[in-house]
Amino acid sequence: IDSVGSDEAVIATNDDASSCKRCAVALGYWRDRYINYFVRSTDRKAPEINRGYFARSVAIKMLVDKFIEVTNGNCQIVNIGAGFDTLYWRLVDEGKTVKGFVEFDFPGVTSRKCLYIQRTKQLLQAVSDEDYDVKLNRNNLHGHTYKLTGVDLRNLTDVEAKVKESDLQYSLPTLFLAECVLVYISIQKSSQLLKWIAEKFKSALFINYEMVNLGDRFGEVMLSNLRSRGCDLAGSEACQSTETQRRRFLDNGWAGADSYDMMGVWARLPPEEIARVTQIELLDEQELLHQLFTHYAITTAWTDHRWSEVQL
Ligand code: SAM
Repeated sequence: IDSVGSDEAVIATNDDASSCKRCAVALGYWRDRYINYFVRSTDRKAPEINRGYFARSVAIKMLVDKFIEVTNGNCQIVNIGAGFDTLYWRLVDEGKTVKGFVEFDFPGVTSRKCLYIQRTKQLLQAVSDEDYDVKLNRNNLHGHTYKLTGVDLRNLTDVEAKVKESDLQYSLPTLFLAECVLVYISIQKSSQLLKWIAEKFKSALFINYEMVNLGDRFGEVMLSNLRSRGCDLAGSEACQSTETQRRRFLDNGWAGADSYDMMGVWARLPPEEIARVTQIELLDEQELLHQLFTHYAITTAWTDHRWSEVQL
């Protein structure tokens, strides 16, 4: 597979993630009145997939909310490999404001997201501001707070230029978010990126959601599924365990890191939410859910010790 072909396959993983989110939202796992604007497919997914997306989505939202709370909104959020994520609009709905909200992805993804935003009043309104004209071109959108930018995360020179263009300030507390992204980037390139972020952003928190424990039979099946779709899993080495996930940050200039697999995350979710969602669909196969939950993890890492308190 050439690199363009594999980039196309990686881009397609966003469509898959978006349609899984749409399915779980339609069934009532969590609320998101924006996902429908980005996804047409109404395919029904397996109950354990829905529950997995629920755990991930709710846990990440809880961590983001905590970061906004402890920084009192005096912060920035940078979602790398954001795909069609709707976090920005959900935060606006809840009246949670930040100083800057930036999304990066391949131009092939941001151009489609730009188009959807442009043609959907509900999406466009939230990125518009009375005193600021939204600037839009094929791959990029610049609102006052929200910026969507096409960039290849493997090209650090380009990333640095886009960070400047997005008006990000190195001195502000900044939350970086990556959901199922770094595994598609070689260790050498992702390490460069993480090191660069740690050097520039002295008050950063990183939330990374990704696969772990790939060495066993179930892990091998997950990898071969993605490979058969044409994805180059150039970064899977860092997904061997929660410890290798922690180390990738500690070895690249981050002051501290924690990592929990999704069993650990599930145990920290609000009990009333767990009680509610376990009623939505019956799970015949508890074993399959257990396998899924032990093969994904949320890792948090910080350059500023104050953000080590942002925990579930
Ligand atoms: N984070 C989103 C979510 O959780 O719904 C999308 C996840 S999708 C599995 C992976 C995303 O990472 C895709 O949108 C893909 O285009 C993006 N991505 C992977 N490698 C990238 C790179 N080198 N530069 C920019 N984006 C990249």
